[in-house]
Amino acid sequence: MNSPVGDRAVVLGASMAGLLAARVLSESYEEVLLVDRDPLTGVTGARRGVPQGRHVHGLLARGQQILEELFPGFTAEMTSSGVPTGDLGELRWYFNGRRLLPASTGLVCVSAARPVLENRVRERVRSLPNVRIMDERDVVRPLTSSDGRRVTGVRTHLRSGEGREEDLEADLVVDATGRGSRTPVWLEELGYRRPHEDRIRIDLTYTTRHYRLPDEAVLDGDLSINPVSSPPIRAGRSSRGSRTVAASCRSPAYWGTAPRPTPRGSSTSCAHCRYRTSTT
Ligand SMILES: Cc1cc2nc3c(=O)[nH]c(=O)nc-3n(C[C@H](O)[C@H](O)[C@H](O)COP(=O)(O)OP(=O)(O)OC[C@H]3O[C@@H](n4cnc5c(N)ncnc54)[C@H](O)[C@@H]3O)c2cc1C
Repeated sequence: MNSPVGDRAVVLGASMAGLLAARVLSESYEEVLLVDRDPLTGVTGARRGVPQGRHVHGLLARGQQILEELFPGFTAEMTSSGVPTGDLGELRWYFNGRRLLPASTGLVCVSAARPVLENRVRERVRSLPNVRIMDERDVVRPLTSSDGRRVTGVRTHLRSGEGREEDLEADLVVDATGRGSRTPVWLEELGYRRPHEDRIRIDLTYTTRHYRLPDEAVLDGDLSINPVSSPPIRAGRSSRGSRTVAASCRSPAYWGTAPRPTPRGSSTSCAHCRYRTSTT
């Protein structure tokens, strides 16, 4: 670090946005504290604060490039830990029921489940000497100067132990608590105008179930099969791995119905690989 711009930055929320914010701030602050309400030690599965982690997630190419830039060797590390990676243009894409001609694009696809990706990023952030992850803490409210013009830190509530509160002073506080962020309410309570929000309801429904393929050879070595929602093939997606994720995402407003989850233990057939799979 050349000359730090401050002693301490506190980042609220240790999901993807918070982790990356902490990584960037670690270059400019002596110390970065990353606060989250979930337990985050040794967590490799879906967690309460990120319920969408159970659904299929794709890391877009630019995301992969940014992760590689911030964490050199990240992609190779994912590959060596068993995460399938490949060229995005060589995946099996279907639009309107027709397969797109495969092409080499140089854009890298890292086919990791969301909790796996988050775990690997978290561990890289944890290894930074001036970043501390403070999990199992609720963010209660910001602390401010007496005239309310400057945020000076944040009050946190420890979930474990006797549940006491602890104030964390900071030169900079970054809110990365996601869609449930209370910043608009806090600003209002401090006498500021609530920021204007535009909301567009898209009515998109995700239904995800994990299937075990009897034989992964049916994928012909492809990383994933991605039928994109269209009238003849309404939706569907499968990703390769020891467990294959099938997700159906469909807009009820557009297609008229929401996708239905398949009962556990049943089997179904995939329109694209024409093989039966069983749910797990
Ligand atoms: C069904 C679905 C599918 C998606 N698929 C994709 C995809 O394929 N590719 C993609 O790039 N994106 C996808 N997304 C979007 C992606 O999941 C989000 O954009 C991303 O998780 C946002 O990250 P975030 O860090 O801003 O917030 P979040 O992931 O929402 O995390 C917020 C964090 O803040 C913590 N927190 C919240 N309140 C408090 C508090 N008071 N105190 C302490 N901690 C708190 C939570 O525990 C959590 O860790 C999908 C979203 C959904 C819903």
